[in-house]
Amino acid sequence: MNDWARRPRLVVGNWKMNKTPSEGAALAAAIRREVGDAPRARIAVCPPYPALTAVRAALEGAPVLLGAQNLHAEVSGAFTGEVSGAMLAACGCVLVLVGHSERRHGLGEDDAMVARKLRAAQRERLTPVVCVGETLEEREGGRTRAVLARQVTAAYQGLGREAARSTVIAYEPVWAIGTGRVASPEQAAEAHLVIREALASTAGEGLGSQIPVLYGGSVTPQNIGALFLLEQVDGALVGGASLDAASFAKIVAAA
Ligand code: PEP
Repeated sequence: MNDWARRPRLVVGNWKMNKTPSEGAALAAAIRREVGDAPRARIAVCPPYPALTAVRAALEGAPVLLGAQNLHAEVSGAFTGEVSGAMLAACGCVLVLVGHSERRHGLGEDDAMVARKLRAAQRERLTPVVCVGETLEEREGGRTRAVLARQVTAAYQGLGREAARSTVIAYEPVWAIGTGRVASPEQAAEAHLVIREALASTAGEGLGSQIPVLYGGSVTPQNIGALFLLEQVDGALVGGASLDAASFAKIVAAA
């Protein structure tokens, strides 16, 4: 596992399609100020592609890592509008989100594509943050366990033990993303357990407890405390609240 992904907890900000390069640099500078020189958690931010280099410059020397929100599964070629892992690495990224639900459900990324992207990230030594989570319909239909197990198995099948150790998972119930409706600690605990069991049976015994599993979905400074009481929540993937430096820093402090 990459050292930075070990405990202490990891808090990742997903800026989604927000912030121009200059706005992103300003937000990064504000986050830098708010979290200080010795934050209690590992921190990363994932700006949109055009803002990566400006944010990288604003974070030079700060304890905040740079990530991206997506990558293409191929190394290069005729894929108009796409971005490769090598390009992200050259921009200073050390991690990349893979299989975010807004891509799975909004842009048709399936389990097989997510598995390819995970491997594409690792080819460039980027740590993939593999996002999994059930829709409301799946939860209400009693299919949460099956969906999570399927998503984890599809992503990790055949990956190999060492490669699996260099990944992070984010449990993001789709019904909680951007809705203000956060999972209860009980729901999160159960889902994290299912994910860890699927990891252990697919990637290798013992790995269930070694791969960091983050929670994501309407995280705020107000609700994160209850989730961080859970030993098995290794950090947070934060969308909306990561666009406000003070809120993001409070979530980091709670870790
Ligand atoms: C996300 O985009 O990964 C996310 C968790 O968003 P939000 O925190 O806004 O629900």
